[in-house]
Amino acid sequence: MTDLKPCPTCDSLKIEPVNKINKGRPVGLYKMQCTHCLLSTAYYSTEMAALLAWNTRPGEDAALDRAVGAVERRRETFIDEALHERGLMNEAIAAIKDLKGEASK
Ligand SMILES: [Zn+2]
Repeated sequence: MTDLKPCPTCDSLKIEPVNKINKGRPVGLYKMQCTHCLLSTAYYSTEMAALLAWNTRPGEDAALDRAVGAVERRRETFIDEALHERGLMNEAIAAIKDLKGEASK
């Protein structure tokens, strides 16, 4: 069985399939529902379809993709800045060594 994502509203992990009942009888439609806040999917013809719907969150997935992209861009900028700083430090060290060399003459 596929792991269910926590409820996007209340973060509960108690998510259960619910059979649609009409006139006291199940009608072959299923939804996934949070037992804590009662958030649910629409009804689907199979429990697996309802489960997949529960776990599909286009907005959340897009936000995660944007976050990864932002971190990757920041990582590249950070590396560029670090390499630039190393160059500046090397220049400073060389200048200090030159000064020390001149002072000891
Ligand atoms: Zn909930």
